[in-house]
Amino acid sequence: MNKLIIASANSGKISEIKRILVLEGVRLIDLKTVGFEDCIDECGSTFSENALIKAKAVYCRYRIPVISDDSGLSVSFLNGKPGVLSARFAGPGAGDKENNDLLLEKLKGVDKRDRKAWFTCAAVFYWDDGEYFLAEGKIEGVITGSPAGSKGFGYDPLFYLPGPGKTMAELSQEEKNGISHRSKAFKRLKSSIEDYYRDLA
Ligand code: IMP
Repeated sequence: MNKLIIASANSGKISEIKRILVLEGVRLIDLKTVGFEDCIDECGSTFSENALIKAKAVYCRYRIPVISDDSGLSVSFLNGKPGVLSARFAGPGAGDKENNDLLLEKLKGVDKRDRKAWFTCAAVFYWDDGEYFLAEGKIEGVITGSPAGSKGFGYDPLFYLPGPGKTMAELSQEEKNGISHRSKAFKRLKSSIEDYYRDLA
């Protein structure tokens, strides 16, 4: 069976990606399973740059095809922040709770109209030196005044979706995968990945 490494250690992301990318004859393995423990310096200024940095670093180590994603939340009132710094918004090593608390603090008293936000995901399939496909997905919502829901990860409890009338953390994983930035990006990549493995066969 072909191996495809998911260049992530975030269990929330890994579980979403495994459900979105079901590929015949391909086993998805994460960084923990391959024993990759290096800290990758995500020094890019865009999600795409960071996704590529991660994919390349892992590919260079194992020389096995890799998928990676870099994703994050942008808030209009904060001029697009935290953006690429979403995971570290409240500082290096910050957890979801600290990041969410800081976001609520920064938006204290801000009107609903100005709490528009969007998640972006840049996904990369990297299969050989300098050979890759890249795709992006986005979803828009509004930052709530207090968290709701216990599913998902990261900023999901604060990300309200006017359509379903729920936060992202109140959606089942199937519902989230039906609409999320990550599923849009990986669904766009899927046919290229399938073509790659078909040509190998
Ligand atoms: P990355 O691992 O550098 O891509 O950081 C992504 C960070 O963005 C996560 O740690 C979350 O804080 C946030 N994020 C990205 N995607 C999602 C999502 O689907 N739900 C909630 N938060 C997300």
